[in-house]
Order: sequence, then structure tokens, then C-alpha cells
Amino acid sequence: MKIAIEELAGCSGCTIAVLDLHEMILDLVEKADIVYSPVIMDVKEPPEGIDIAFVTGAIRNTENQERLNLLRKRAKKIVAFGTCACYGGVSGLSMLSSNAELFDYVYRGVETAHPDGTVPKDVPPFLYRAFAVGDMTKIDYYITGCPPKEALLKQIIPALIAGDTLELSRKSVCAECDRTMGPVENWSMKRRYEGIPDREHCLLGQGYLCLGSVTFGRCAAACPKNNVPCHGCNGPSLDILREPCRDIYNMMVRRISDLTDKPQKEVEKELYDVAHTMYAFTIGSLIMEDKENSKIRDLIKERSG
Ligand code: SF4
Ligand code: SF4
Ligand code: SF4
Repeated sequence: MKIAIEELAGCSGCTIAVLDLHEMILDLVEKADIVYSPVIMDVKEPPEGIDIAFVTGAIRNTENQERLNLLRKRAKKIVAFGTCACYGGVSGLSMLSSNAELFDYVYRGVETAHPDGTVPKDVPPFLYRAFAVGDMTKIDYYITGCPPKEALLKQIIPALIAGDTLELSRKSVCAECDRTMGPVENWSMKRRYEGIPDREHCLLGQGYLCLGSVTFGRCAAACPKNNVPCHGCNGPSLDILREPCRDIYNMMVRRISDLTDKPQKEVEKELYDVAHTMYAFTIGSLIMEDKENSKIRDLIKERSG
């Protein structure tokens, strides 16, 4: 069994999540050879005959696209690994700026830019937008998470290598959360830094924007269990993926309206920075952009001009 781990437009956190399996890596390498992984070994090209390629990161430039196409030719199975690969992830937020602004910021605006303003000549050009890998090629499996959590990988990776099937939860983060709904009185939206949430009761009921109801689970509700609202890093819940008229934004507005008895129009006024609060992990996904009620099209147009 030959395994590859590719890095496209991402942060390498997904490969580090594999390394975070610690001693379980020793069991893995007894059954499979890691033949290509730019983060952990010095091999420049994916070889022929890969059995499973884990692709991390989104597609943002022509090099990402070429490398994905090459892997598709050389690997029997491709796994979109992490939310950047599955839905564009945080790399998709680059679409809130124009390509020229991005280029200027990265190569001229940051402290580490060359002091005389020299820009390298071999920078691969941006595509006109970010893409999830599934928007570009056939994908065999999807593993979401930013990055996917250790307990989940400990189940999935050995099964993939052995060719076994697994029954995994298909529920949302709320289904994995141990909080109960407390009294909802004088509800108003709070920012995360305002106050300290009560540990027993639902964060949304307390006014914190928790996306648990619209987010795919399999993380054991890691954030709400640590008193932090879910910000949607596992991507959309299955009902949102399946139903064309369901979108992260409109389902959250509806949920808050039902909870608080406020009209939906009033709830909408309380929401702030919709791109970063609702679509931080999915703005680069065509599946999410194409939904009837999606705000993504407006957000991209508004910000990038
Ligand atoms: S999904 Fe998260 S951890 Fe993985 S590459 Fe993207 S930003 Fe990094
Ligand atoms: S909205 Fe958040 S805090 Fe409330 S039940 Fe769902 S995951 Fe838990
Ligand atoms: S609770 Fe939400 S933000 Fe936290 S790990 Fe799970 S999906 Fe990601």
C-alpha cells in the first residue's frame, strides 16, 4: 500500500494532524509506505502507483490545479482531507479580496517581503477563485475538519488502508453537544469576548453565535465542550448539503428566530461580518455558493469589486 499526502492551498495543519497520531504512525507504516508528502519528506514529485492520496488544501492557483490533476492520474483513490480540500476552507476567504490585492499584500505588504519590492518571477498565477478539490476532479472520500480530529483519524485511516467500511455518525455538532437549552430571555447577539458563557446551557440560547446546528459533527462537539461556540470548521451538516433551499445563513437565521421569537428580519440585523461568521470554511465551495439562498455570491462581489 502506497500513500501520498499532498499540500495545496492550505496551512499544513492537516498533515500535522496525521503526525499527531503519534505512535499509531508506527502501526501505519508497517502496513503502508508514505511515498510522498512535501511536509514530512524530501520527495518533489508524487510517484506512479499510489494507492491512496490524501489531498489537503484548496485549489487557488494553477500549480495547485496541475498537482491535483497529476495526483488524479497517479492515485487509485483520492481523499479530500480537511475542510480546505472539502469546501475551500479558510483559503476560500481569499475571495473577499481581489487577486491583485492578495498578490500585493503577500509579496509587497508583509514585513518579510523583499525590501526593494522585488517579486519572484515564477509565482504561479491565481485562478479567478478558490475551489474545493471536488469542484475540480472526482473525489473518492471526504474527511472534513480543520484539521480532522485525532479520534476520527484513528478510526478512519486504518479502515481505509485495510479497505474496510465504517459506520460513522452523520449528525450535526448539536447532536454531540451535552448542553441543555436554558431560559432564553432578552436575547441579543454577543461577541465571543463578551462575558463568560454559562457551561450548562446552549451557547446560542445565551446569545453566542454557535453554528452547531448547521455543522457536520464527528468532533465530539470539541468547542462547546470547552465553552467556545462552534464556528463551523467541519463544514455544513448533511441536511444543508442535501437540501437546495437550506443554507448556513438562512438556517441560522431561522433557528435564532424560532428560539427567540424575533422576526427573521430583526435577527438578520443582529448578524455581523457574515463572511467570517457564517461562511469562514465554505466560501470557496461551489456547492455552497450555488445554493438558492446562499449569500456567498453577494459577499464575493461586494468585497472584491
Ligand atoms: S483544513 Fe484547516 S488545518 Fe487543514 S490545511 Fe486547511 S486551514 Fe490548515
Ligand atoms: S447550538 Fe452550540 S451550544 Fe447549543 S446545543 Fe448546539 S452545539 Fe451545543
Ligand atoms: S465544535 Fe465546531 S468549530 Fe469546534 S471542532 Fe467541532 S466543528 Fe469545528
